Amino acid sequence: MKKVLVTGVLGQDGANMCEYLLGEFNDIKVFGMIRRVANPNFKNCKKFLNHPNFQLVYGDLTDEISLQKLVKEIQPDYFINFAANSFVGISWDMPLHVFDVNTNGVTRCLEAIRHFQPNCRFYSAGSSEEFGDVAYTPQDIKHPLRPRSPYGASKCSARHIIKVYRESYDMYAVHGILFNHEGTKRGEEFVTRKITKGVARIKKCIDREEKIEPIELGNIYSQRDWSDSEDFVKGVWLMLNQEKPEDYVLASGETHTIKEFASKAFKYAGISGSWTEIEGEPTKTKFYNNSPKGQNLIKINPKFYRPAEVELLLGDPSEAEEKLGWERKISFDMLIKKMVEFDLNEEKEAQ
Ligand code: GDP
Repeated sequence: MKKVLVTGVLGQDGANMCEYLLGEFNDIKVFGMIRRVANPNFKNCKKFLNHPNFQLVYGDLTDEISLQKLVKEIQPDYFINFAANSFVGISWDMPLHVFDVNTNGVTRCLEAIRHFQPNCRFYSAGSSEEFGDVAYTPQDIKHPLRPRSPYGASKCSARHIIKVYRESYDMYAVHGILFNHEGTKRGEEFVTRKITKGVARIKKCIDREEKIEPIELGNIYSQRDWSDSEDFVKGVWLMLNQEKPEDYVLASGETHTIKEFASKAFKYAGISGSWTEIEGEPTKTKFYNNSPKGQNLIKINPKFYRPAEVELLLGDPSEAEEKLGWERKISFDMLIKKMVEFDLNEEKEAQ
């Protein structure tokens, strides 16, 4: 059996990676690392928690002793690090913790591997936020690092330290640049899930003829390159299984505004609406229901604006497609539809 240690298994990507590995391979044992927290939420792990080839283990990226112990005991063939302080918006409020987890945490993983299982292959989750105020479009792996948030800066540093370890100690360590990736396991602090959950809540209110609280958003004019996390974990596994370690970009190659995502999310819930906009006053933008009641469905709340914004992200996945043979199966529209349907269902089940 090959042994894979995965961190961040309560989150979206870690859980999708476990599901993928356990669903696809019979000869892989997955060790899913979680932190000790008071009330862990295993909602994302339902499909594999009781799988015979899965085992939960405790550890923390801020605690090198726990990482060293795990690597020493498990002797993993692969170490896939999806654990992170991963929300850009909060990273201004706790920059040191963001660096301790996202940068020092990666260094702690590398040190544990170097000392106790040097042939273990390591993946660390990078981010398109490293490109920040982009210099050219679409962004490929050669794009300069120009982060706009503590989160982006922490991921840039992680990328540098991985390169240093790869070259200094001849380790198989890669840092994939993953553009935005979403799905039904996405946390509600991210805009896509906030929208699809909000749409499901509003749909329920419309059906019951109850008062509607609009979804409150920040900058809906920024553009993102969104894919499905389930497509990306397959790309990550490919990155880990090449002859030599190299960093790759995973992206859809399309960019869309938050506004477009929101319009489509309402459309897939069967709600047709229209935008009202005032030139030069983006905070006055609103989205109304086209029904006779004309309820307000989206309004802007400046509290969701960020101190510095990444206005446009558009990735170039061609190298990953050509060299890794990676392909994206779920389109932008399929992703929105899937998230909306899932959240509509959850609202129904909660009734
Ligand atoms: P990010 O690209 O990793 O920061 O992913 P997010 O989903 O958190 O944010 C994507 C974009 O949506 C950013 O440009 C945000 O400024 C924008 N945005 C607009 N309104 C909101 C909101 O209410 N919540 C979040 N999280 N982002 C918002």
